[in-house]
Amino acid sequence: MTANEPLLRAENVIVEYGTKRNPNRVLHEVSLEVGAGECVGLVGESGSGKSTLGKAVLGLVPVAGGKITFDGRDITHLKGQARRDLASDIQVVFQDPYGSLNPKMTVGEILSEPLSTAGTDRATARGIVGEMLERVSMPASVIDRYPSEFSGGQRQRIAIARALVRKPRLIICDEPVSALDLTTQATVLDLLIDLQRETGVSYLFVSHDLGVVRSICHRVAVMYRGNLVEVGDGDAVTRSPQHPYSQRLLAASPVADPILQAARRDEWLALRERQAASA
Ligand code: ADP
Ligand code: MG
Repeated sequence: MTANEPLLRAENVIVEYGTKRNPNRVLHEVSLEVGAGECVGLVGESGSGKSTLGKAVLGLVPVAGGKITFDGRDITHLKGQARRDLASDIQVVFQDPYGSLNPKMTVGEILSEPLSTAGTDRATARGIVGEMLERVSMPASVIDRYPSEFSGGQRQRIAIARALVRKPRLIICDEPVSALDLTTQATVLDLLIDLQRETGVSYLFVSHDLGVVRSICHRVAVMYRGNLVEVGDGDAVTRSPQHPYSQRLLAASPVADPILQAARRDEWLALRERQAASA
């Protein structure tokens, strides 16, 4: 990677659903970069195309135009084994902590699967799984238990541990805390921030919640009907957005009320202090 090359670069990416004869274009030449160790937020109302951009990076939807590079390498149309190999660099954490973990597998099996797929031997895999569970503050004893035995927040920790076992350089976080209550959101966001600090992993962080994005992202991009309308410093975009659509998004945000917002931030800070004190 050259000094100026971002880790992830999407250039004029077009994605269309529907049929060839009747295409429904949902991404219109979207360009976005994520640097090494950076967290870039992608906000916008439901249906604006945020998840579709994440899926395009992951190769889960075909890209009809433009280019996606990772570490300078063109990954736009990677398929088969080449695409599967990319899982050692790019991982994902989805919103739904109930649907994203196979209920028939133990936590140990869930976490070691990406490693056995990569050909890691069992003893090494066991060591890595233990290390990752510790990283997400789950006791080693959980390996023999099933996802149904855990709360939403604990399941998201397990999903994060699974994303980490191959030591990726980028994690696509698609609404990773949206299904969680406020207190649990704060603890999972803190975990993601700590992990980024420790490992230098990059995040493309998809969320409809400006408050969440503000607390974790260095830069923020605002998507409106498949177009990026504003990209900038996280604090600036989430506090004083320039584009009319971003301003509307801020106004419609459930925490747009400045008093509420301040209270929520204080709540987070207090929680963080309590955690630091008890650590
Ligand atoms: P967001 O994540 O911002 O809520 P999505 O990327 O999921 O938005 O969806 C963008 C648009 O694409 C929406 O209009 C949605 O209805 C449509 N869409 C998403 N997935 C599919 C699909 N698999 N087939 C057809 N249309 C889809
Ligand atoms: Mg989505």
